[in-house]
Amino acid sequence: MNKITPQPGIMEIDLYQGGASHVDGAVNVIKLSSNENPLGPSPKAIEAVRNSAAQIHRYPSTDHASLRGAIGDTLGLDPERIICGAGSDEIIAFLCQAYAGPGAEVLHTEHGFAMYRISALAAGATPVEVPERDRVTDVDALLAACTERTRLVFIANPNNPTGTMIGAAEVARLAEGLPPQALLVLDGAYADYVEGFDGGAALVEARDNVVMTRTFSKLYGLGGLRVGWGYGPQEIIDVLNRIRGPFNLSGTALLAAEAAIRDTDYAEQCRAHNARWRGWLAEALAELGVPSDTSCANFVLARFASRVEAEACDDYLRTQGLIVRRVAGYNLPNALRITVGDEIACRRVVAAVSAFKAGAA
Ligand SMILES: *Cc1c(COP(=O)(O)O)cnc(C)c1O
Repeated sequence: MNKITPQPGIMEIDLYQGGASHVDGAVNVIKLSSNENPLGPSPKAIEAVRNSAAQIHRYPSTDHASLRGAIGDTLGLDPERIICGAGSDEIIAFLCQAYAGPGAEVLHTEHGFAMYRISALAAGATPVEVPERDRVTDVDALLAACTERTRLVFIANPNNPTGTMIGAAEVARLAEGLPPQALLVLDGAYADYVEGFDGGAALVEARDNVVMTRTFSKLYGLGGLRVGWGYGPQEIIDVLNRIRGPFNLSGTALLAAEAAIRDTDYAEQCRAHNARWRGWLAEALAELGVPSDTSCANFVLARFASRVEAEACDDYLRTQGLIVRRVAGYNLPNALRITVGDEIACRRVVAAVSAFKAGAA
């Protein structure tokens, strides 16, 4: 009999549930369950992937200087304070590994992203769920939940799966009020969808206790390549680089991400498309008696009268080849999260919900 056991906390992790991608027997299936860009990646990113193919026997860059430079140029940030990861998930994991551990508390909001809890537990730390106010991050509740054990505070702004966000003054008040040993992490996975929003970069620069994470998986349409990044005070980025694997991003991923972020025209088209169809979708659903909070992201959190109705609607949508996301695991059993698709997808969703409401199920 061996005595091989995992580290404390690991067995408390429930496996991450990804968005489903197929329906048995259905044709013309549209996946609206993972907040992917319905227009796909920039043609320039696709070209970069093709051009990289003959070089895949080479190890990639270890310092990601070229991609960090492109991010810095495009967004006006200091490349020295950027760290790239295999998705922003990896940056979240580095933060937990470096700053939390047994005895440490990691705060996240009631309807916050699943990876905060998973990464906290993986590091041996204790995740602490903090209430929101009507599906909006509650700064007072977060400040009240802080103790001398709090090491990390995660908020996504805009948040997934609620789509809501809080203003810069509220975020600054949170950073200002944290205890001295706590680091605020602003997850900006959806910041690219908010016109003129820096994701919290200015606050990172103004303070020494704030880090921002960003991703190429949403607006830039590169979820399959796994590229994210973090921006923070130099000391913190230096700490994270110590635990980063030297070849954590492939050469193909680095080149694609660089091409994607430099293609600002394409990014703008995607942002405008999302804003237009998000508004259309939310309004059409509201007219069918399915309300949602004003979304700042690339999805709508559609609220139903009950868990039973939400699940019945999800089942019906599936029969119509439409895959959306149940969010009971995010303490939102009455809701379905629907990614803003292309025009055809949005029209199909509304037609299907309309048929459902008319008794088709
Ligand atoms: C999608 C998402 C991410 C991005 O994850 P990647 O690892 O970069 O693909 C991060 N945070 C939130 C809240 C998300 O919804």
